[in-house]
Amino acid sequence: MRIAGVTSTELFGGPAARPFQIIRVTLASDGPGAAGPAADAPVTVRIEGAAVTTPQPPEVAGPAPGGQLEVEVGVEIAAPHAAGSPLQVTVIAESQTAGSPGAASGQDRAELAATITAAETGWTMWMVSHFHYDPVWWSTQGQYTQSRIFLPDADGSLPDARTAFELVRRHLDQARRDPDYKFVLAEIDYLKPHFDAHPEDRADLLAFIKAGRIEIVGGSYNEPNTNLSCAESTIRNAVYGLAFQREVLGADPSTAWMLDAFGHDPAYPGLMAAAGLTESSWARGPFHQWGPNRTVGDNRRMQFASEFEWLSPDGGGLLTSYMANHYGAGWVTHSAGSLAAAEQAAYEQFRQLAPVAATRNVLLPVGADHVIPSRWATGIHRDWNSRYVWPRFVTAVPSEFFAAVRKDAAERDVWITPQTRDMNPVYTGKDVSYIDTKQAQRAAETVVQDGERLATLAWLAGAGYPAASLDKAWRLLVFGAHPGGGRRTSAATQPGARPPRTWPAWPPPPTWPPPSPTRARASRPAPRPAPWSCSIHCRCPGPA
Ligand SMILES: [Zn+2]
Repeated sequence: MRIAGVTSTELFGGPAARPFQIIRVTLASDGPGAAGPAADAPVTVRIEGAAVTTPQPPEVAGPAPGGQLEVEVGVEIAAPHAAGSPLQVTVIAESQTAGSPGAASGQDRAELAATITAAETGWTMWMVSHFHYDPVWWSTQGQYTQSRIFLPDADGSLPDARTAFELVRRHLDQARRDPDYKFVLAEIDYLKPHFDAHPEDRADLLAFIKAGRIEIVGGSYNEPNTNLSCAESTIRNAVYGLAFQREVLGADPSTAWMLDAFGHDPAYPGLMAAAGLTESSWARGPFHQWGPNRTVGDNRRMQFASEFEWLSPDGGGLLTSYMANHYGAGWVTHSAGSLAAAEQAAYEQFRQLAPVAATRNVLLPVGADHVIPSRWATGIHRDWNSRYVWPRFVTAVPSEFFAAVRKDAAERDVWITPQTRDMNPVYTGKDVSYIDTKQAQRAAETVVQDGERLATLAWLAGAGYPAASLDKAWRLLVFGAHPGGGRRTSAATQPGARPPRTWPAWPPPPTWPPPSPTRARASRPAPRPAPWSCSIHCRCPGPA
């Protein structure tokens, strides 16, 4: 028997009050004729050093002849050695038969000098289940929402990507079955149609939101590609989205969830802070559209931590976590063939993301484009935390992650750095492809704003206010602001695009009624709020 490898981990086992750092020791037997413990003799493994002890040495069956065996050894490291400190140790594996009568001297004991690295307790990886949704991309909105037919794979299995209505149902069903399942929903493109078309789901949806197991994120109609649309368009995106999310669903989004937005207006964090949001999270930028690790192999190549205070030129801002491994980071767990493999995949994500986290908290988005719930999400949550004290891997919603970031930063005096730089990835294709539709969208934004001002003046002079027309115009524009809409392809301009309204209880009339002739003749017309001057929280009954 010999010791073939010694690997430090960030894992801690043992009682929570006295956690032991886990070192992985590989024992090897070189073959049937090699010296070693008797086949069924237990082997004890311990690690000793000037500041290192093994309070509870594990006892395992020795490696089979010619085989290898990995043993997790929990060590205690004396307090002065901070995380990252290298420590010289001796790893000792010995059979309990060592020294017994008849045993050959030394054949039951192996030693290896090694260096281990001290790890840190207190880490948590917050696994947020989600699906990213594009209302249109190649085909029609209706197909994406309701009717797209996916052909089975060769083995008869259906793909993981589904239509919006089926996705909402599948995630809801998972939450119904499994009390540990939590997930996020975001965009009006599917939320509103689903809410309208599936009344049987409403009670559960609202109850899960109230219980904090569904978090409504985004705080806007969709994921606007804000560096290609105007600021007013971003504001309308928030107004339309929040109206439905707050007023109809009773949710209170705090996280702008811009997973796939291809570009970011520097004013965006200030605008969303003004709308009442406090955090944001997104994948494309600031380093590259796929993040540093997938581009240059190391997330530490980014100049600042994954959590930062994203500041707008107006001084407003949002606590932000950019998804260094992209919004599909945690989806690798879904394709694992077993729970153990899924846990290993999750741990590998932790190892890539933790070195760039500002606090001892890692956000792992568990999802991808249009996907069903990850089959291992809650399994990891239950099994991992029964085996390890740290890091914790928990199913969560973004507000839990951000609360933990704020708490850890406050308690340990961690500086969340303010960042004002351009967050846009170098991603030229999305800025220039289908340039005619992008320019048309900007031109339409300007025209609609001008028309709105003119209509307001005309209304004050006694004309009807074209509320329904303006409402439809803005819905088309916010729909087209999605990176998968008019900002990338011409899909939003297709005849079938039907951006849902967000005020179902208050459909604007075809035309806003003009002021009464009596008031119009008065010395000055009494000011009457135009429809969009109502605040987001306004509970007014709307136009008469
Ligand atoms: Zn997308």
